[in-house]
Amino acid sequence: MSDLLSTFAERVVRWQQAHGRQHLPWQHTTDPYRIWLSEIMLQQTQVSTVLGYYERFLTRFPTVKDLALAEQDDVMPYWAGLGYYARARNLHKCAQTIQNDYQGQFPTQSQVLATLPGIGPSTAAAIASFSVGERAPIMDGNVKRVFCRYFGVYGPTHLRATEKKLWDLAHQVLEKAPTDLSMSAYTQGQMDLGAQVCTRGQPNCTHCPLQQGCYALAHQVQTELPTPKPKLKQDERSCHMLIWQQGNHVLMEQRPNQGIWGGMISLPQFENQANLKQFLGHHGTMLTQAQQMASFTHVFSHFKLHITPWWIKAANAVYEPKANELWLNTADIAEAALPAPVSKLLDGIWAADQLPLN
Ligand code: SF4
Repeated sequence: MSDLLSTFAERVVRWQQAHGRQHLPWQHTTDPYRIWLSEIMLQQTQVSTVLGYYERFLTRFPTVKDLALAEQDDVMPYWAGLGYYARARNLHKCAQTIQNDYQGQFPTQSQVLATLPGIGPSTAAAIASFSVGERAPIMDGNVKRVFCRYFGVYGPTHLRATEKKLWDLAHQVLEKAPTDLSMSAYTQGQMDLGAQVCTRGQPNCTHCPLQQGCYALAHQVQTELPTPKPKLKQDERSCHMLIWQQGNHVLMEQRPNQGIWGGMISLPQFENQANLKQFLGHHGTMLTQAQQMASFTHVFSHFKLHITPWWIKAANAVYEPKANELWLNTADIAEAALPAPVSKLLDGIWAADQLPLN
């Protein structure tokens, strides 16, 4: 075991320097703001998707101060399409905390970083190791997979006991590693190895720097590790959406901060037909005046949402929007940060020439 621990980090570093990714825009910077942004964007999202978003975001918000001083509504359009919108809200909250409590100086110690909104211990360690070379281990999804396979750790990785074992191993690896270990190459190497070699479906053991001593390879249990999470039945929900069109405008509402599409601009949404009918009734309109459109399903990671859209056209301004509502010009729909299925729905109507263009 001692050998497995003591050579792990060096082997990862050598491999990263020869075969890992070297030209990502957030590499070769020690600016914790830029590193933090890339780490948050990369959670649950592939590198190829993040690339364009990262550049656009930094052009609009080049410093943590720019982000802190912006309104949340200004930030959301730069995140629309990346999903997991709580990340964007926490990003904004975190920037404001740094601006207010740390005089705009981005912390670089992992222990301090882990106290900030939206930054977990692994992200904190990644920021600290990339920005100042702190010897702090990371443990994201890719790294958990590599550790489970290499060290033969069984048990679903979301369970506290399994996670503790993995973190303990990660700390032991660093304790045994040479004192002059390049922390940025080690951290990047673990991420690259998980993404490129020790992949979920078909690990490429032949080209892996860890093949010697790897438990999963020796026992041919690569596909059994990490232990899969017991499958939960996917929840199903349904809702009704209203496309209330007045001339060249469509009624939109800001979603509550909690729940799906939190804080985003979206179509008014109702749990059931009775609520929709009541809403229309309050505004002198009947459900019979609305046209029911074909239902469709949007799949989230934990549930499916069946959406039934209703479309109503009013020639004159008959509805005064409330504080959380606004009339969106149809010409601005493409630029608005709308949830993906709402954009798709409006694009479909638009493409069919049913919504007038300015
Ligand atoms: S040898 Fe195979 S299973 Fe083991 S760490 Fe490398 S790629 Fe993963």
